[in-house]
Amino acid sequence: MNQLDALIEQAISLLQKANYVVALTGAGISTPSGIPDFRSPASGLWERHDPAEAASLAGFKRDPQQFYDWIRPFAHTILNAQPNPAHLALAELETAGKLKAIITQNIDMLHTRAGSTAVHEVHGHLRQVTCLRCYEIFEAGPFLDEVVQSGGVPHCSSCGGVLKPNVILFGELLPVSVLNQARREARACDLMLVAGSSLTVSPAGDLPYLAKPTGASLIIVNFEETHLDHLADVVIHGDVADVLPKLAASIKV
Ligand code: NAD
Repeated sequence: MNQLDALIEQAISLLQKANYVVALTGAGISTPSGIPDFRSPASGLWERHDPAEAASLAGFKRDPQQFYDWIRPFAHTILNAQPNPAHLALAELETAGKLKAIITQNIDMLHTRAGSTAVHEVHGHLRQVTCLRCYEIFEAGPFLDEVVQSGGVPHCSSCGGVLKPNVILFGELLPVSVLNQARREARACDLMLVAGSSLTVSPAGDLPYLAKPTGASLIIVNFEETHLDHLADVVIHGDVADVLPKLAASIKV
């Protein structure tokens, strides 16, 4: 057995013993669906843009056209992406009654499209847009299609204000009720499975700190090291799309 297989066996053993598994996912779970993450060299979105400007609330308000120019190719990729075997594996673990919740930093909606139902999107999602003048909320689909096709900035059909996707930008507070629910799940779990996150974005990246003191096990599946590897019971430097299906296959429905 090679080292990777041995680590997967250790993770399976923890998974089989656990009764309340919570997954914490990041951009790395969606790279096998063709959506670039933010920090991996070459594919990383921040390699080409300054996040403080392109994806900040202040930058959005100052220059919505620049924001939409930045997000247009990203939105196009997300709207055309399909769930991959890692998303499907987590949905299977929920169906099997093992996985109780997914806390995701992703805005791509691929967990729900894979069939997961208990999903806490702590950084928002691209399902809706909100008017920054009258705060009316709209389904995002038609507006994002317009953004992708015309290259313009979408406006509110009621008041003409600028529409902003319901994603959390730098300088914005996280949705309190979603974050509190995520914190409750982190404290309730007996196994936290981190998949495809650098864990560098707070407060989502700090949620393992809430799980560990309760006695929960921690498994981290990520290409790169994270600053919480020292807390983990098992660290697997492998592809989530290879590893997660192996974990899910070990659990009988
Ligand atoms: P990140 O970009 O900081 O880190 C992603 C991590 O995943 C990296 O450490 C990388 O090594 C690893 N990784 C990439 N592909 C992998 C694979 N196939 N298997 C295993 N590991 C893999 O992402 P983050 O920690 O999620 O946080 C950054 C922020 O970026 C979040 O706030 C999120 O909202 C946003 N974001 C979301 C999306 C999306 O919705 N798909 C995409 C890009 C960024």
